[in-house]
Amino acid sequence: MDLIIKNGTIVNSKESRQADLYIKNGKIESIKDSWLYTEIPGTEVIDAQNMLVMPGGVDVHTHLEMPFMGTYSTDDFLTGTIAAAMGGTTSIIDYAIPKKRESLKKALEKWHKKAKSKAVIDYGFHMAIVPPIDRPLEEFEFLAESGVTSIKCFLAYKSSLMASDVDLYRILEKARKHKILVCNHAENGEIIDYLTKQLLNEGKKEPIFHAYSRPPGLEEESVSRVIKLAGMTKTPVYFVHLSSKGAIKEIKRAKKDKQKVFAETCPQYTVLSEHKYFSKNFEGAKYVMSPPLRKYKHCSSIKKGIKEGVIDVIATDHCPFNFNKEKRMGLRDFTKIPNGMPGIETRMAVMFNEMVVKQGLSPNEFVRLNCSNPAKIFGLAQKGDLKEGKDADIVIWNPDLIWKIKQEHLHENVDYTPFEDYIVTGKPVTVISRGDVIVNNGEFKAEPGRGMYISRHTSKPAYS
Ligand SMILES: [Zn+2]
Repeated sequence: MDLIIKNGTIVNSKESRQADLYIKNGKIESIKDSWLYTEIPGTEVIDAQNMLVMPGGVDVHTHLEMPFMGTYSTDDFLTGTIAAAMGGTTSIIDYAIPKKRESLKKALEKWHKKAKSKAVIDYGFHMAIVPPIDRPLEEFEFLAESGVTSIKCFLAYKSSLMASDVDLYRILEKARKHKILVCNHAENGEIIDYLTKQLLNEGKKEPIFHAYSRPPGLEEESVSRVIKLAGMTKTPVYFVHLSSKGAIKEIKRAKKDKQKVFAETCPQYTVLSEHKYFSKNFEGAKYVMSPPLRKYKHCSSIKKGIKEGVIDVIATDHCPFNFNKEKRMGLRDFTKIPNGMPGIETRMAVMFNEMVVKQGLSPNEFVRLNCSNPAKIFGLAQKGDLKEGKDADIVIWNPDLIWKIKQEHLHENVDYTPFEDYIVTGKPVTVISRGDVIVNNGEFKAEPGRGMYISRHTSKPAYS
């Protein structure tokens, strides 16, 4: 059914205005000042008085049903996308990860299969490039033609996913040729490997040593190295989940030098700090992810980076494992704790509270970081903006509602949230995806499999 959203404040990345929004056939038909509006027969009317009407969130970093150490991340494309929708997110880009020596085509088929009958919101894929890279390099053209216009390079995880410097250089050369954006997990894997062995030899096996095995300097060094190599091949690069002060400094410098560099962070790096690893009863394992949580001064730098526009995108790196099950694999050895935590449902609320309510960021900047920039940078032409002709992906947001985050009220398929008892102001109330109301006043109502694959375009900010 067609819809009219009345009386709300329309918030785009550049401006806000009091207006009504008319949705026809799943697209935004028109946005007009309230007083001009006459109701159109046969449409449903949603009253958005005192609400912000924003583009649906775009989360460009998720790992749904991701194979790991004989198990899988616990949210699949059904539970994960329902949780996303409940949190105000209407598109995701998930990382397809091929097995060693598996063709990218095969990996992509697998990810399509995981998503197709389950996703309730629209989704695209990035592709991870795992060594040996000779064969994957031959498939870059296929990727671009399949709407996968970004890839991921791991500079960490030695002897599994890690690309060598030569691998990275060759990937950068080839990516430029096919106008593919290279996303980087930047941490120095060689030295992490060395430090990890040293800690284990010394019998240091508790969760805190996960953080000590990958200090912030190793992120800074890796970011700097990628920037230099990308500068030589003239390839635009994107950095996932940045967590440290030094990394922000490197990104800032590269941007100042007019290099095409894009940066992402995640809510956890702004509000959670390293002291979580000291939690009793192995609870530090809940926060084991890579990069790890840092000392609080790093959280401050990340927030400053967000405010100054050094950070372009906020995503989640949503990769949940149950505390009482999968995380327990590492009870006696931090290297066996599955890396990752949930966040797909709480991203928008945590960031609205932290950056808009507490730090004074404008709702427009909030939209830019969580919706429009990710859509633009990753070639989601129909998403991320409330403009005539775009998909009607919309979140109606109550900016004044105060609530407490509780795992038992969330929809993520995992037994904890790292944001338990976090009190936030601002909550998604109603969520619309291509004109369908999929969350109505906090209640989810949509069929599995309604989400559609988004064949992505070349990144304009990267390649123009
Ligand atoms: Zn990730």
